[in-house]
Amino acid sequence: MTDKPTNLIDNLVRKDVLNMVPYQSARREQAGGSCWLNANEAGGNNELDISLSDLNRYPDFQPQQLINAYADYAGVENKQVLATRGADEGIEVLIRTFCQSNQDNIIICPPTYGMYAISAKGHAVNITTVPLTNELQLDLPALSAKKDNTKIVFICSPNNPTGDVLNKSDIISTLELFKDSALVVVDEAYIEFCPELSFAKLLNEYPNLVILRTLSKAFALAGLRCGFTLASNEIITMMSKIIAPYPISNPVSAIASKALTQNLADMQQRVVSTNQLNIELSEFLKQQTWLIKLFTSKTNYILFKANNTIALFNSLIEQGVLIRNQSSQLSLENCLRVSIGNANELEQFKSAINIYNQQQENSTCKT
Ligand SMILES: *Cc1c(COP(=O)(O)O)cnc(C)c1O
Repeated sequence: MTDKPTNLIDNLVRKDVLNMVPYQSARREQAGGSCWLNANEAGGNNELDISLSDLNRYPDFQPQQLINAYADYAGVENKQVLATRGADEGIEVLIRTFCQSNQDNIIICPPTYGMYAISAKGHAVNITTVPLTNELQLDLPALSAKKDNTKIVFICSPNNPTGDVLNKSDIISTLELFKDSALVVVDEAYIEFCPELSFAKLLNEYPNLVILRTLSKAFALAGLRCGFTLASNEIITMMSKIIAPYPISNPVSAIASKALTQNLADMQQRVVSTNQLNIELSEFLKQQTWLIKLFTSKTNYILFKANNTIALFNSLIEQGVLIRNQSSQLSLENCLRVSIGNANELEQFKSAINIYNQQQENSTCKT
């Protein structure tokens, strides 16, 4: 590599962030020690549990055991990992670190995850929309036409809500296209369902590559609020200036670290059964007379297009089965998204659909 990542990142980052000194918490400034009287903490222990005995202390800025555990799991270096309050905080911090309000823009490729646009709006950052093609892939000609003031390109793969991955070669072309001008963020919130397709292996090759991860999906820990940004150490260092001083609480760190080490097999088992249920649910949906299109899913949800979606959606609600209407998303008219859940939830969904079909039949007979 002839490119110096440092130059790219120094050029991309907001000028005021480049020169900014991060908040110096006592915990970040002074490691070790045994008598901690430097942070106005309460003395004594609050003995809830072995792993929670240190709640009187502020947590480490980036808890070592958690960073080690995630770096090991993801196959990257410790210094390439930033732990955040969910992947959503990663999105927010990236925008606040790299985009100047009322000047810079991000590119989003809808239909896609909604938080990129929301975080951009919250920081008065412009949004350039480069829709996915009819095949729901990246539109490379359109991406290459739009480069002025773009600081971040958000790509979601596997994409939410459509469920399939984007072509690897297109993502690489995008990394190349923006290699001197913008970060390319690949949101891998669902990558555990198809781990072989991760871009994490390419971090050292593309200094403008950023990967978002979360424990909210395959790890089944959405309530924990824990996610990770994987990127070059230059990028992580800049983001560390903007993120809150104690983003990860001690209990979150303890639970997340355990999920990533001792309990890693639980997640892998969940992925195996979800991928099996994905096949079952797809077969079931294919049998429905009202189905117009089933989208390929490499995730724990399935998008489908149907006739009479409003009646279907409402009937499910009446039966207590909640799914997501995606009709308002670009090019997703009459599309619904159902999460795969567990075997029991899938059975409930199926019987609710069967009852809906019965209702429809009865009403056609009457008229
Ligand atoms: C759920 C989701 C996130 C956010 O995850 P959290 O870690 O819960 O904040 C980010 N990106 C995509 C594509 C998601 O589906």
